[in-house]
Amino acid sequence: MLEYQLIRSKRRKTLALQVRHGHVTVRAPYYVTTSFIDTFIQEKSAWLLTKLAEQKDKPDFCDFSQNSNLLFLGEPLTLNIYLAKKSNVFIDNSLVNEVDLFSTYKPSLRQLNVVISERVGLRLTEPLARAKQVKKLLETYFKQQAEQLIIERLEFLSRQTSLIPTTVNIRQYRARWGSCNNRGELSFNYLLMMAPIFVIDYVIIHELCHLEYLNHSKEFWQLVEKYCPNFQTAKKWLSINQSQLHWQNPS
Ligand SMILES: [Zn+2]
Repeated sequence: MLEYQLIRSKRRKTLALQVRHGHVTVRAPYYVTTSFIDTFIQEKSAWLLTKLAEQKDKPDFCDFSQNSNLLFLGEPLTLNIYLAKKSNVFIDNSLVNEVDLFSTYKPSLRQLNVVISERVGLRLTEPLARAKQVKKLLETYFKQQAEQLIIERLEFLSRQTSLIPTTVNIRQYRARWGSCNNRGELSFNYLLMMAPIFVIDYVIIHELCHLEYLNHSKEFWQLVEKYCPNFQTAKKWLSINQSQLHWQNPS
């Protein structure tokens, strides 16, 4: 027998099946018996198993469900979602302290724990609503981490290059990693925290160099290369991992 979640409603007149995030949900009116639903699931089991298998084969982007993968500092982490008194997000072992700043990427099965507070979580019975909450908690976490690490790296690289921005802002962007305007204000996408440190450094150096050249001229790229000799590797990493670097809205 396949496992499923049952949601009953007064208004519903028919049975409905849904497969999302690797879970089966059945919506049913109150008067339908569970044995009837079990038989219904049994009859539909071939279709349900195909649907579940299809969803398993799409691991590339994170759907914010249990056991899906998300990159953090270039490392794929597995989401471990659970309820407790207080909401929290943390990585098993302290990854940030352990990461060798210039090390190459090592795959691991470390967990990114997302704790939803019971007060909120108990109301979110549907997988979709829960995935949305997980995404929200992770956005806050990535932003906080970015505000520490990106600012720290920026201060270091700014001293090295003597290129000094007027202000720095960490924010959400749809389709860019950073920006620089003619007032010398830099902004960075907090989802950059998904990339390894050498890629983060490249994006910071790229924007710092725009303080000197507000274009992508030959001179601009020469300056980028001066402070970031491996910038081609960083650009390549960004293009290879592009599909994982966007956060889709759970649907
Ligand atoms: Zn640019």
